[in-house]
Amino acid sequence: MLPGDDIVYLKGVGPAKAKLLASELGVHTAADLLRCFPFRHIDRTAQCTVASLNEESGYVVLHGFINGLTATPTGKNRERLNATFTDGTGSVQLAWFAGTRWVRERVKPSVRYTLIGKPTLWNGQWQMVHPELEPLTADSAADTAPLLPVYNTTDKMKRGGLGTRALARLTEVLVGCIGGIEDTLPHDVVARHGLMPYFDALKAIHYPASRQQLEAARNRLKFDELFFLQLDYQYAHLSRRQSSEGHVFAHVGQHFNRFYSEKIPFPLTGAQKRVVREIRDDMHSGRQMNRLLQGDVGSGKTLVALLAMLLAPDNGFQACLMAPTEILAAQHFANFRHMLEGLPTRVALLTGSLRPAEKRLIKRQLAAGEIDLLVGTHALIEDDVIFANLGLVVIDEQHRFGVEQRAKLWAKGQPHILVMTATPIPRTLAMTLYGDLDCSVIDELPPGRRPVATVHRMEPNRLRVFGFLKQQIDLGRQVYFVYPLIHESEKLDLRDLEDGLEMVQGYFPRPQYQTSMVHGGLSADEKESEMRRFKEGKTQIMVATTVIEVGVDVPNATVMVIENAERFGLSQLHQLRGRVGRGGEQSFCILMTKDRLSSTARERIRTMCETTDGFKIAEADLRLRGPGDVQGLQQSGVLDLKLASVVDDEPMVAATRDEVRRLLDADPSLASYPTLQRYLQQSKNKFLWSKIS
Ligand code: ADP
Ligand code: MG
Repeated sequence: MLPGDDIVYLKGVGPAKAKLLASELGVHTAADLLRCFPFRHIDRTAQCTVASLNEESGYVVLHGFINGLTATPTGKNRERLNATFTDGTGSVQLAWFAGTRWVRERVKPSVRYTLIGKPTLWNGQWQMVHPELEPLTADSAADTAPLLPVYNTTDKMKRGGLGTRALARLTEVLVGCIGGIEDTLPHDVVARHGLMPYFDALKAIHYPASRQQLEAARNRLKFDELFFLQLDYQYAHLSRRQSSEGHVFAHVGQHFNRFYSEKIPFPLTGAQKRVVREIRDDMHSGRQMNRLLQGDVGSGKTLVALLAMLLAPDNGFQACLMAPTEILAAQHFANFRHMLEGLPTRVALLTGSLRPAEKRLIKRQLAAGEIDLLVGTHALIEDDVIFANLGLVVIDEQHRFGVEQRAKLWAKGQPHILVMTATPIPRTLAMTLYGDLDCSVIDELPPGRRPVATVHRMEPNRLRVFGFLKQQIDLGRQVYFVYPLIHESEKLDLRDLEDGLEMVQGYFPRPQYQTSMVHGGLSADEKESEMRRFKEGKTQIMVATTVIEVGVDVPNATVMVIENAERFGLSQLHQLRGRVGRGGEQSFCILMTKDRLSSTARERIRTMCETTDGFKIAEADLRLRGPGDVQGLQQSGVLDLKLASVVDDEPMVAATRDEVRRLLDADPSLASYPTLQRYLQQSKNKFLWSKIS
C-alpha cells in the first residue's frame, strides 16, 4: 500500500469504517492512519495477576484459563457471551456483546491465554468487557510485538466497532503492507542527531520491539515536528529580511536628545538601556524591524517605547502607539504629553470616541505630517487614517491584537514594528512561536520596587480584609476591587459589580470614603473621568471589571482585591496584580475566593501567592492549561504539535532551532535540500501571515 492510497482499501476497513475514520479522526489515506499515533502502549510482557489488580490498573495483561462460556440471546441474531477467567490468584468475569461468534469458535477450556483488557470492579467482582485474547504459545506475539498500542477513539467509533483494539488491528495490517515513504529530513541531519530513519519511526511508534525503540521513534517524530516548525518560522524570517527593506533611522536628533537630557524622569535601568540599543540598531540596519519586547508588568516598557518613537521624527518619520483600550491610550497620551512638555515633538490622540470634527482635524494633520507621534486604539487601523510618513508602529500589550490588525498597520508604509507584551512567554514557547521575531527582554525592575505581598482569603475573612483596607486608606493609600466578567451578558456582570459596589460602600461610607467605578458599559468619557478621579486621589477606592487589567498606572494604589479570583486565569491575575506595587510602598494583593476550589484553581492561587516572577507564572500557566490553550497559540493557529511539548522538550526545541539556523546559514535557498524546498512550497500559504506577526 502507498501512503496516498484511500484507507478504504486497507484490509479490514471497508466503506462503513472508512467513513468513521474520516469523520472522527480525519483519516482519509494510509498516511493519515499511520500518523494517528497511539497515546500509550500496553506491555504484554508485564504480566500481572488478578490478586494484584486495583482500580487504577487501567489496561492490564493477565495469563490464565477461560471457562464456563455461556451465550444468552439478547435479540435477533444477537447474544451476550459470558465466561470466567482464572489465573490461580483470582477470577475475572468476562463479557462480549459483539463479535461473539469469533470468541465462541476459538476459546478452548484447556488452553492458556494472554488476556488484555481494562478491568472494572463491580460488587466486589472484577469484570472485563471485550478483552483481547491470544493463546499463550511458545512463539506468541509477545515476543515479536511486546508492546500493544492504545489509541484515542470516540464513542461513535466504539459503537461502530472501531475501539482502540480494533484500530490497533488496522494499524498492524497497515504497518505490514505500507511502503514508499521517503525520509523527511536530509541524511546529514538524521546522522548528526542520531535519529531513527523516518519510515522506521512511523512503524515503530505503533509496534515497537522494545521501550527503547519506542522512545527512539517518538524522539525522531518529535524532532520532525519541531524541526519543520522552526523551518517555517526561520525561513519566513529570512525571506522577510531579504525582501523587506526597512526605513533607515540614521540620526539621533533633537527629539530624542532633548528628551533624554532634559526630560527623562529617571535614569534608565540597565535592561531598558540594553533594549533601547537593540531597537536603535534594528532601525538603523536598513532592514525592517520586527521585534517582540517582553517585560514583566511594571518593568518600564512605556519609556522604552517613547524613546524608540522619538527616533522617528528625528529621521523625518512619524510613529504611532496602539493600545488595546481607550483608557490605556488616553493614559499613554497624557503621559507622553506630560513628559514631552516644552519640546517640539507633536503628540496627538486618536480614539473611536473622539467627536467627528476632532477626528477629521487629527487625520488632516496626520496626513499633512503635522503630527509626530500618534497614540490611539484600533481606530488607528482604519483605512482613512493616512500617515504622511509612518516609520514605526508600537503595539502595546499585543495579546489583545489579532494578526490581521497588525497586517493592516503594516500596510500603511511598511513601518518598523515593535510589539510589547507583559504576558511573558516561556522561553521555549517564544522560540517556537516567535521564531521569526527578534526578541528583547527587560528582565529588571526599576529600583526600589518591593514584591507585592499576595494572600488568599475566603468569605469568612472578609471583615478582616476590609479592616486592613481601612488601615491602608487611612495611611493615604488607594485600593482596587476587581470583579471578573462572569456572564455573557454585560447587564448581569454589571449587577455583580453593583452588588460589589454596594457592599464596599456599606463598609466605606461617604463622604469619608469616595469610590470610583469603571466597567465596559461606560462611555469613554465616563471611564476617563472616573479613572481621573481615582488617579488624582479624589477617590480612594476603585471598583472595576477587568477593563482595569492592562497598563493602568496609579502608583499610590497599594492594595488589589480580586473578587472571585478562582475565575481568573494566571496571566490575568498577574496582570491585575501588576496594577499595584508601582510606587515605593509595600503593596498587597488579596485573592478572594469561595471555599471550595477545583484543583487547578487552587494551583493557580498557590502559584500567585508564591511568586511574582512573570516568567515563572507563565510556565505554570502553560503547564496548567496545556499549550493548546495558550492565547498566542490560538491566535496563530499553527502550533499543531502531536508529540512534542513546548514545555517539556526545551532541549529539542533549541536543537532544532540551531539545526535549522545552520542549514539556512549555509544554504539560504536550500538548493541542496529538495525535500525541504518541497515542504516549504507546500506550507507557504499557511505561513503568509508571519510576514507581519
Ligand atoms: P509596563 O512595562 O508594565 O508597561 P510602565 O512602563 O507602565 O510598565 O512602567 C511602570 C512604572 O515604572 C511607571 O510608573 C514608570 O514611570 C516607572 N518607571 C519606568 N522606568 C523606570 C525607571 N528606569 N526608573 C524608575 N521608574 C521607572
Ligand atoms: Mg504598559
